[in-house]
Order: sequence, then C-alpha cells, then structure tokens
Amino acid sequence: MTARAPATRIEWRLATVVDALPETPSTRTLRLDVPGWPGHRAGQHVDVRLTAQDGYQAERSYSIASAPEDDKLALTVERLDDGEVSPYLTEELRAGDKLELRGPIGGYFVWDVPIGGPLFLVGGGSGIVPLMAMIRHRNSCLAAGDREARKKLPARLLYSSRGWDEVIYRDELAALAAKDPTLEVVHTLTRNPPDGWTGFHRRIDRAMLDEVAWPASDNPRVFVCGPTPLVEAVASTLVDPV
Ligand SMILES: Cc1cc2nc3c(=O)[nH]c(=O)nc-3n(C[C@H](O)[C@H](O)[C@H](O)COP(=O)(O)OP(=O)(O)OC[C@H]3O[C@@H](n4cnc5c(N)ncnc54)[C@H](O)[C@@H]3O)c2cc1C
Repeated sequence: MTARAPATRIEWRLATVVDALPETPSTRTLRLDVPGWPGHRAGQHVDVRLTAQDGYQAERSYSIASAPEDDKLALTVERLDDGEVSPYLTEELRAGDKLELRGPIGGYFVWDVPIGGPLFLVGGGSGIVPLMAMIRHRNSCLAAGDREARKKLPARLLYSSRGWDEVIYRDELAALAAKDPTLEVVHTLTRNPPDGWTGFHRRIDRAMLDEVAWPASDNPRVFVCGPTPLVEAVASTLVDPV
C-alpha cells in the first residue's frame, strides 16, 4: 500500500476592501487587504464567495491584477448587467467591506521574470487582468531605467477592446510604455474607435498577429486571455502559422 500526501486545501480568508477604483464605465478595481495572504504568481486567480443573509452562496473566479510585489491584492471586475455577482462587486462594495476569498489558484497560466521572454500577451476585455499582473510584475522587477535588463525581456501586449472608453488600465499601460521602449502596447478596437483613430479597428486575425507577434524563431512566451472565441482563434493561428 502506498501512502499519498493529502491534497492541500486552500483556505477561505476574509479580505477587507481598501478601496474600489473605477477603471472604465463598467469595470472597477478592488484593492484588498488579505491577512495571511501567502503570496501569488502573476497570472493566478482567486475564488470569491458571497453569502446572502439567508445563507445562499455564490462563488466566482477572478484573476489577480496586482503584481506579487504589491502589498495589496487587486481584482478588476467587469459588470455584467444581468450577472449575479459582478454587479455587487462593481457597484455595492465599499471601502471597509469584507469579502471571502481563497487562493492563489492556477499553476500553468503563470509567468515570472526568471521564465524569461520575449513576452507576447494577447488579451480581450477583462482578459487583460492576469496579463496586467505579468506586466506589473515585469515592471517591478526590472530596475527603473535599466535598459539592458529590459532589453533582455522585451514584452508586447495586443489588447482588444470594444471601444476606447472600455480599455481597462488605459492610462497605466500608456504610462508604462512611454517610459519603457521595450514594452509595446498595441490596441485594437472592435466597435467604436474615437475620431482620428489610426490603430487597428477589427477583431484579432492572422494578418494582425503576423504584424504584431514575435516570430516563432524568437521562442516567445505567449499568454492569451479573453472570451473563448478570441482565445481559440489566436491560439490556433499562432500554433498553425501558414
Ligand atoms: C479563471 C477565471 C478568471 C476570471 N477572471 C475575471 C476577471 O479578472 N474579471 C472579471 O470581470 N471576470 C473574470 N472572470 C469571470 C467571472 O468569474 C464571472 O464569471 C463574471 O464576473 C460573471 O459573474 P456574474 O455572477 O456577474 O454573472 P453570472 O450570473 O454568472 O452570469 C454570467 C452570464 O451568464 C448568463 N446566465 C446566467 N445563468 C444563465 C442561465 N441559466 N442560462 C443562460 N444564461 C445564463 C447571465 O445572463 C450572464 O450574461 C473569470 C473567470 C474565470 C473562470
């Protein structure tokens, strides 16, 4: 008879909302204080559990937006008007409120600086959240202004949003790219581009990936997150270059 190590249970923790910051008209970032948080890797997620007064519980998963180096845990939630949990997280929760969560969860969709690059991130809508944790982690680890370190770890983000107002982390991404020539941020807007928009204005397709992705010969680390059709289209195109 062989003995097996017991599976590790990830315990529920009580987090406190430190602040709730609007990102777009339908998206909010919750910054949380989580006593006993064991730390996480960029790309992981947590489960959030809400309990109603009558005992009814609802659980949903949310990617971690913050870098492992941040002292607060950040989640960015998009409101689905007809959803059960996201309207509460985006509209009702206030600083000081408590929230049950457990994590970190997820072992393969993770990236740390030692894994190396080049890094190619493709996101759609709130799929940017775990990718932003990677970008923030990369930025935290590479000393400000250290061009040589950054050159060894170039990163490109291709980010699809419906409209310019719906681009999550828009200003932060622009600020990071402005001070780091080795971080490129490419937007595509699928519905309503602003006047004078000169960027991509369509769904991500093979021609766009040909233009933006690193060549396979550079052996890029690729992470894709977003709606299932986007992930399937991007992944199948990248693994089947014609
Ligand atoms: C690993 C992971 C990470 C995630 N990270 C994020 C993140 O960072 N940010 C984020 O915003 N979201 C994230 N999500 C999605 C998140 O978990 C929730 O699914 C999302 O917030 C919607 O939850 P909700 O309770 O508001 O909507 P739900 O009540 O679950 O409804 C979702 C949709 O399904 C429809 N629906 C519900 N029940 C039915 C039914 N019986 N028949 C037909 N349609 C139905 C609803 O109308 C709605 O449009 C992640 C999901 C996973 C799995």
